[in-house]
Amino acid sequence: MMKQSRPVLSVNATAANQRFSRLLAESEQGQDIVITRRGRPVARLQSIHAEAEPAPPLGTPVAGGVPDFEKRMDIIEACRKMNAIGLNQGTSGNASVRVEGGMLITPSGMDYDTMVPADIVKIGISGRLLHGHRRPSSEWHFHCRVMEARPRAGAILHTHSINATALACLGRGIPSFHYMVAVAGGRDIRCAPYATFGTEELAGAVLEALDGRLACLMANHGMLVLGRDIEDAFKRAVEVETLAAQYLKALAVGEPNLLSDAEMDVVLEKFRTYSGWAEPAR
Ligand code: 13P
Ligand code: ZN
Repeated sequence: MMKQSRPVLSVNATAANQRFSRLLAESEQGQDIVITRRGRPVARLQSIHAEAEPAPPLGTPVAGGVPDFEKRMDIIEACRKMNAIGLNQGTSGNASVRVEGGMLITPSGMDYDTMVPADIVKIGISGRLLHGHRRPSSEWHFHCRVMEARPRAGAILHTHSINATALACLGRGIPSFHYMVAVAGGRDIRCAPYATFGTEELAGAVLEALDGRLACLMANHGMLVLGRDIEDAFKRAVEVETLAAQYLKALAVGEPNLLSDAEMDVVLEKFRTYSGWAEPAR
């Protein structure tokens, strides 16, 4: 009997990025999707509709489909967007999303523009490599510690955004100079003390600065936010960076007036029902 070859869908990377959900819905189960950049194929994926195929053995390059495809695409999209809008630059920063059995995390030191779903790594909550052929982000320690300590967090985004990082280089957090500080879940946004990137020590410092909060700065390094999902985390990161810029600008002229604890508590209470910031992933 003649073997029937599956039709191949060819799509350029930008279009693929914008249209993946629809592409997947329209593609046939198991159909090959070839992603091109500047007319040259850069990745070949397999459309997986329902239950994903079991993960290949540890360390095997993923040539075909990957489980949690949509979540991997969400991570890549968020990373490209954070660089596109100036919330991060180059290969700095990293992201993770909670999935069954652990989390998906960006690979270490990889250009977000060339990243494809199979490059995202799956690790367990203890940091064990479960699936993928890349090295997980060097910051897997803090992604794991935070995911473990904060069960309602579905995603973590870490960026080296200019203004938050500038404040963090002064060792300063963000006090209640503006009511929007409440988007980080409390009366202020703390700055974690400096520790070398990629260390357990940094993970401990971050965890402490995040106590009761959804965001923190990291001294001489950057910022980190939690979210229900990657979109929620992204939105919060934009607000934290904006607050950092506003605070720096105000500081350049004088000492900003701070809102009282009582006033911040009113805002925090209001945010529990205010559109967009309801039910933060504490
Ligand atoms: P990774 O590329 O290893 O995630 O490192 C980037 C970073 O921001 C380290 O703090
Ligand atoms: Zn970093």
